Amino acid sequence: MSEKFIGLTITWLLSWSIFAIDQLSTTIHHMNSYGEYVLGDRSQESQPALAAKLNNQVKTPSTSETVPEQYDENICSDKKFWSEVKAEIAPDRRNIILTFPSTPKETGIKSVEIVAKPTTLSYRSSKNAFHMHSIFQERLNISKKEHEIQVSLFNGLDTKYTYLVTDWKLDLIASSKKSDDCYESTFLKINKLNYENIENLPVFYERNTLSPFFEKNYDVRDIGEDEYLNQFFQKLQLKELHKTLPKPHEAALALLNKDVKYDFENFKKEDKYVDEYISQKHRLHGEVILGLFGNVKQTDLNALNNVLHVLNIVVPQLQISYSDNPNDVNLPIHFASCTKRFSELVNDCKGKYAGLFYHSHNRFDEAKFGWIWVDSQYGRSTREHILIHELGHALGLGHNLCRYSVMSYADYADSMPYFTEIDLMQLRLLYDQKLRDRMYSYQVIEELELDKEVYSEYESNKKPMCSPQQSGWKGLVELQQGFKTVEELLKEGN
Ligand SMILES: [Zn+2]
Repeated sequence: MSEKFIGLTITWLLSWSIFAIDQLSTTIHHMNSYGEYVLGDRSQESQPALAAKLNNQVKTPSTSETVPEQYDENICSDKKFWSEVKAEIAPDRRNIILTFPSTPKETGIKSVEIVAKPTTLSYRSSKNAFHMHSIFQERLNISKKEHEIQVSLFNGLDTKYTYLVTDWKLDLIASSKKSDDCYESTFLKINKLNYENIENLPVFYERNTLSPFFEKNYDVRDIGEDEYLNQFFQKLQLKELHKTLPKPHEAALALLNKDVKYDFENFKKEDKYVDEYISQKHRLHGEVILGLFGNVKQTDLNALNNVLHVLNIVVPQLQISYSDNPNDVNLPIHFASCTKRFSELVNDCKGKYAGLFYHSHNRFDEAKFGWIWVDSQYGRSTREHILIHELGHALGLGHNLCRYSVMSYADYADSMPYFTEIDLMQLRLLYDQKLRDRMYSYQVIEELELDKEVYSEYESNKKPMCSPQQSGWKGLVELQQGFKTVEELLKEGN
């Protein structure tokens, strides 16, 4: 096993796949190229040649430069046709004008896409991950000869800890009736100097969605001082509810000592447990500031609001909040659709992954708690499931084979868009303030006064780990489901 493969596995074993929803056949083709994507170029270009290309200044950006890269049959290999395609930046510098010698349709072309690709080599680091929102793609109307396309671009996030996109290349990708993507060529290069339709990426924010006390930069004037104080005391009351939680449970420790892996050779979830001890599990600490980016909906922020309430009760020592200022965010959550082009460039998600959590590997990393990607092409419930699942990984949870768990890898599992009882029991134990980092099971048992015999029964599967009977969690699940208000929960707790 190469070093690269091991590094990859550490990050990706925490991925969640959509196989339960969509049985897909896949082939092994991507492992070696991870992190070294040559943007859209399927030829084997050498790294020095690529670096030279990326360092090139664009001298005459407003003229077409059609350089065919790969030929196929029929129209795709028709040099004359493609050399006559004219491409230029519109005079207002906010659109791209494309003119074909004849309509693509009448030449036998099935589809043509225009794709703006940032000249980013790897989207894996938290500094560059924001560039995933800088990819633009649009399918052209093949019945038209002339096109004016509004290519709206984001140049990443303007903070001290991220890199902005400096250049994009605009590619034309065509498919003929016989062959997909049989023609691909870069026809323009754009940057801030020659193109103006480029904006900084904002953090998603919608007023009156989050409880004010979860907002890092809440303006007291929005609700008045008295109401803000009320809200502030409500947050303290939530944290106080921690004392009313059930005690740590042996089954939760048994699950925290297990994981279920992802088979990277066959792109499928394993169906058996492996040992992965609690001493190896990471935990978040201190101030955790979330921010949502990209194709976000209000319901996503709403789901986050519910989870923040629950985490304030279960993990009260974490100062976890949301900020609309990108400079604050240290656990960014990206929503972007796993289209074919996105998959080719960013994370090879197509048919394999619907969400990913990336650990932070650099202690100087501003996004010090890593980052999350959620495939935004799904409906509300699935998006929320992916979001909560990946948050579970960020908090330190692994996979299981339980039916009722947002962290489940079992095919028979229900798709839960919230932390269930067994998930909350694990978080409660993992974040018990009596525990220190890297504690072994026997130390945890001792410190939390668990029953060793009972733990052994769960650990060896004599008792089912997934369904221990412990009352006191229902209210927290109902809060996330929207069946219970915070006020009702607080009333019950007192
Ligand atoms: Zn996962």
